[in-house]
Amino acid sequence: YPPERIRNFSIIAHVDHGKSTMADRLLELTGTIKKGHGQPQYLDKLQVERERGITVKAQTVTMFYNYAKHSSKLDTSAAIDTVRSTEECKYLLNLIDTPGHVDFSYEVSRSLAACQGVLLLVDASQGVQAQTVANFYLAFEADLVIIPVINKIDQPNANPENVKNQLKNMFDIDPQDVLLASAKTGMGLSAVLPAVIDRIRYPNGGALSPLRMLLLDSYYDEYKGVICHVAIVDGALKKGEKIASAATGQSYEVMDVGILHPELTPTNLLLTGQVGYIVTGMRSTQEARIGDTLHHIRTVVEPLPGFKPAKHMVFAGVYPADGSDYDALSHAIERLTCNDASVSVARESSGALGIGFRCGFLGLLHMDVFLQRLEQEHGAHVITTSPTVPYIFEYEDGSKIQVQNPAILSSTSGKRLVTCWEPTVIATIITPSEYQEADLVKLDIMLNGQIVDALSAIVHRSKAPRIGREVVEKLKKLLDRQMFEVAIQAAIGSKIIARETISAMRKNVLAKCYGGDVTRKRKLLEKQKEGKKRMKRVGSVDIPQEAFHQLLRTT
Ligand code: GDP
Ligand code: MG
Repeated sequence: YPPERIRNFSIIAHVDHGKSTMADRLLELTGTIKKGHGQPQYLDKLQVERERGITVKAQTVTMFYNYAKHSSKLDTSAAIDTVRSTEECKYLLNLIDTPGHVDFSYEVSRSLAACQGVLLLVDASQGVQAQTVANFYLAFEADLVIIPVINKIDQPNANPENVKNQLKNMFDIDPQDVLLASAKTGMGLSAVLPAVIDRIRYPNGGALSPLRMLLLDSYYDEYKGVICHVAIVDGALKKGEKIASAATGQSYEVMDVGILHPELTPTNLLLTGQVGYIVTGMRSTQEARIGDTLHHIRTVVEPLPGFKPAKHMVFAGVYPADGSDYDALSHAIERLTCNDASVSVARESSGALGIGFRCGFLGLLHMDVFLQRLEQEHGAHVITTSPTVPYIFEYEDGSKIQVQNPAILSSTSGKRLVTCWEPTVIATIITPSEYQEADLVKLDIMLNGQIVDALSAIVHRSKAPRIGREVVEKLKKLLDRQMFEVAIQAAIGSKIIARETISAMRKNVLAKCYGGDVTRKRKLLEKQKEGKKRMKRVGSVDIPQEAFHQLLRTT
């Protein structure tokens, strides 16, 4: 495959706008996976991805596609191209599916380094969302061709015209360039790969230049050791050749090389513009440095720009659940960071938990996913300390320290603290200045048939059942100490949409009544009965102030 027949592209979008499903359809369309075989979101291979239904790792896959260019199309290039354009050409396409959550945007920017263009998916009913904007700018700043695709046009509330306007207003995207598709039904999909071939430029590395390849990603395989994903920027790589790392100077023999089609498929050769894998006998994370440039030994090349270092926003201590498991945990973390280079790891110890690690993450979801992967993929059981953001403490003598762990403050207590700094963001919120027509209803909460006006709310009709159920369930928990039966209901007008019942609980009024004074006991029980009656009659329920606070805080 000469570079002209190669296209490298990513699918980027906000969470849930259909990236992984679109990838499925394109894999089927090119016969890379069989239709109906395998599970939906084929590229979401990790257990954590399948359980949570989100992509956390970018995944590369190579597809082959026969494309018959229509000669009716105006062709400004040389006449020979026009002749060739009437025949069917086979193209090699590298697709990278990316995560949508902001916590994993590091994966997106890494993926874009191997691409010349992107499919920017936007959900036809949700329109442009936060990560649509963020990912658009990642691609825009990397100077990539952006193919806008409005997805999910099969949905009843799809409004592609509205989304086209948004794209025009926010990103100056010409509505004529926008593709409409449904990754679910397959509608509009036949136009996607032709657009990739026509609009995205081919990788224009030097086919005859010395080899330069970018180390994109790596993971640890029990049998083969570290497997690296690489993009060949210049030159070509053959099995058996010797290569070296620009970062460490270490040299390796290429023991296996191939493409991901969709699994590891040896080809013995990778050419300029291709994305594939190599096995070199690297043993550890320290060796496989994401963003590193690899080249043939004994050649001097200018290293590629690599990646911006990840910025850690959340730190937590990670300790083996069983103190003696330190080595096992160390091993597990080493293996996992091979596949997630965005985590920072430093050794630390705690009086209570023993020896462990202080890890830096890009966000709380990232931390959660990392811990889950540690357990599921590497069998490590851990205890984590409460997460903290990095602070900077500045002392009288002008020295500053970054505080990732509250415990280190005690050791610097000798010096006088002058200023503390916390991380902050400058955010821009873009909202329309007019309100829009909406289907709103008043949601009432009733206790024993009486509306509690302080809990009434105006909500979207579609959300009313969910909110009603939540409030009712929460109230049940908070009011669980009433002395008579209470019906908690959520209603729209006279229609009840959710109900819980708290059964009566007899308060033990005799608890403080020691000894055997029977008459006193009887008196107390009588009084209790009366009280119950009175309250029932009034029909009001005591809602403790605290319960109100909790309810209003959490809904
Ligand atoms: P990602 O987070 O962008 O990778 O989104 P996924 O591919 O995981 O899809 C999120 C959800 O949207 C899944 O439940 C898909 O089945 C659904 N989905 C994806 N594409 C379409 C589509 O074109 N139409 C409809 N109705 N649903 C879709
Ligand atoms: Mg996905």
